Amino acid sequence: MIFTDLAKGVLEQNTSFDNHETVRRVLMGPNEDVVGLVAVHNSNLGPALGGCRFYPYTDEGLALTDVLRLSRGMTYKNAMAGLPLGGGKAVIIGNPKRDKNEALMEDMGEAVESFDGKYVTAEDSGTGEEDMVAMAKKTEHVTGLPPEFLRGKDFGELGGNPSPLTALGCYRGIRAAVHHRFGGDALMGLKVAVQGIGAVGLELCKLLRQDGVEIFITDVDETRLKAAKEEMGGGHIVAPDEIYEVEAEVFAPCAMGGILNDETIPKLKAHIVAGAANNQLLKSHHDIQLMDRNILYVPDYVINAGGVICVGYEYFRKSGHNPLDFDISRESMVAHVERIGQNVTDVLGYATAHHLGTGEAADRLAEEKFMGGRPLEVGQMPPGFGGKTLVQ
Ligand code: NAD
Repeated sequence: MIFTDLAKGVLEQNTSFDNHETVRRVLMGPNEDVVGLVAVHNSNLGPALGGCRFYPYTDEGLALTDVLRLSRGMTYKNAMAGLPLGGGKAVIIGNPKRDKNEALMEDMGEAVESFDGKYVTAEDSGTGEEDMVAMAKKTEHVTGLPPEFLRGKDFGELGGNPSPLTALGCYRGIRAAVHHRFGGDALMGLKVAVQGIGAVGLELCKLLRQDGVEIFITDVDETRLKAAKEEMGGGHIVAPDEIYEVEAEVFAPCAMGGILNDETIPKLKAHIVAGAANNQLLKSHHDIQLMDRNILYVPDYVINAGGVICVGYEYFRKSGHNPLDFDISRESMVAHVERIGQNVTDVLGYATAHHLGTGEAADRLAEEKFMGGRPLEVGQMPPGFGGKTLVQ
């Protein structure tokens, strides 16, 4: 394997470069011809946690842009989630269905290990639990492992599929946004339109229905859509391109990114946008376009942090990295996910008070938490958390 740290002069030519601490290019596989990139954006709050994506980028420049953008996003997400973790990400260029194999994932494990704990990896698009197990042969700095792998290693009830917890965080975030917008706490009788009824979307619908919410669902996969309606015991199915125009209080994007753009924002009838999908705003200024239409946008990385909290707790247990003295149990992890509601309230309140778009408000609050800090020693408090009041 060949490791090369990309020089700042090279990185500065990419507009997504944001003073990343390290970007390491790795040549993997038996012929050292599979390219991986690992980026640590910022580790002020602790080890940089972010998943490993396996994707058929058409050229390495696109892969570099993606890893820079995604690792930066993890810094903001982890900071807003109140985790003592920085932001990082890895990408492997290739078709996961054709090119992925155990030996290659072990190579990526070695690449992760080369960071000596400064980067911690997890699953992402194109990788799954079995790939984490392969990487774990070469490094301790991997999380998102299957429960059967963790069992017997004193992990309690940690580990496993994070999607239900991502859904729980979204549910709490929607409640907070409804309270901010309409006052009161009851969701009974409200309408929510959910785009994408996959692992997160379906769980979110189930939670909302328990509160008497009327659900509208769409998905490009019709079989999944019908099965979801049956499993929920109700809900209205709408066509994928009609979901934006549903007369609902809340639109919850739970499918893919870039769906808030010049074309869709004018169509929206909802008063609130709050859902799990990553990178919902096509361009950062689209939060202003939403504000101009009096639509309250809940920044995606604030509301969808349930998954990273889940894998974060697993890592804290595994590594002993626990500078904020969290109680590392499933119960406390769930409580931490539920505090996403408060994080949403804080962001929306800050945006209102400072007349900002909610996306920018979240960025500013996240930056307050991670900027100006120093790399954490074990047992040291990160800056920006205001003592231990925000954590258990
Ligand atoms: P998933 O693949 O299980 O579900 C996505 C669903 O969206 C699928 O059913 C798919 O058919 C549907 N879909 C795709 N394109 C669509 C379109 N144009 N219109 C309508 N439906 C469409 O994924 P997931 O795990 O439920 O994640 C959903 C989103 O939330 C993704 O953006 C993901 O990155 C993000 N997210 C997920 C987690 C997690 O814990 N799973 C955590 C954070 C963020």
